[in-house]
Amino acid sequence: MGKLIKEGDETGRLHVDSPLMGESLVSKTLMKKTEAKAYFRMHPDINVLKIGGQSIMDRGAKALLPILDVLVEAKDRHKILLMTGGGTRARHVYNIGVDLGMPTGVLSKLGDKVSWQNAEMLAVLLSKHGGVKIGHGDNLEQLTMFCRLGFLPITYGIPPYGFFEHPAEHGSIPPHRTDCGAFLLAENIGARSLIYLKDEKGLYSDDPKKSDPGKLTFYDRISVDELLALDLDDLIIERPILTLMQRSKCLRELQIIDALRHPEHILAALEGEHVGTIIYRD
Ligand code: ADP
Ligand code: MG
Repeated sequence: MGKLIKEGDETGRLHVDSPLMGESLVSKTLMKKTEAKAYFRMHPDINVLKIGGQSIMDRGAKALLPILDVLVEAKDRHKILLMTGGGTRARHVYNIGVDLGMPTGVLSKLGDKVSWQNAEMLAVLLSKHGGVKIGHGDNLEQLTMFCRLGFLPITYGIPPYGFFEHPAEHGSIPPHRTDCGAFLLAENIGARSLIYLKDEKGLYSDDPKKSDPGKLTFYDRISVDELLALDLDDLIIERPILTLMQRSKCLRELQIIDALRHPEHILAALEGEHVGTIIYRD
């Protein structure tokens, strides 16, 4: 414990002696000194899997159930945290909000309920296999424990921005949605891997649903710097992830896989195989 230090005259501040004493915590020079040599990883064996709302769950039983079968098999071999996307229902409420001129923070509050609903649905579907829905509070410290006990923890992907959401670069849709939530949580718990379960084999030069995939470039492995330099108009994951990843302390890569056509790729990706697009940080 640092000792107490009284500044100057009687209006002086009472400090606790520490290297950050009296600092605004803004100075770049000082902030660089707070970089750790190696960051502490709370859940180094947990794999964060984000299951798409629009890309998977909105497709219903035919798409979802084969994926859940694989997850049930996978959870006995790997520690998994399942995070949920929103999807069409979130888009519907955003659309009404946009029409009403709602600011980003309001849209953020409106849209977050949908990924909660999807987490609830997964928890119900997986309950007999140990699926357990958890919130974003203290349970997040207990992830490894849940997995060791044979549970499959499930939480919503939406990060808790709400009225505190950042303004969007373009337009008003909240920029940090469930892909970002999965990224941020994986980074901060020091997760083993981050895998996005989507309905395309990975990243193309444009949306393969809107142009002929044969005419597009497919990127099976690309660095985040290269991807930012390409400045693609559309992406398969939320754009802020790219800048977040440039600053990440623990997470070095993420993989996007086609879990719709290839549910078995979930197991392969968990084994460290390259089956989709890997975006990495140099
Ligand atoms: P999720 O429900 O998993 O969040 P989204 O529908 O929001 O999924 O995003 C995935 C979709 O992004 C894909 O199904 C694809 O149609 C679209 N997409 C847009 N741009 C690209 C791109 N450059 N490469 C691949 N897919 C893209
Ligand atoms: Mg999405």
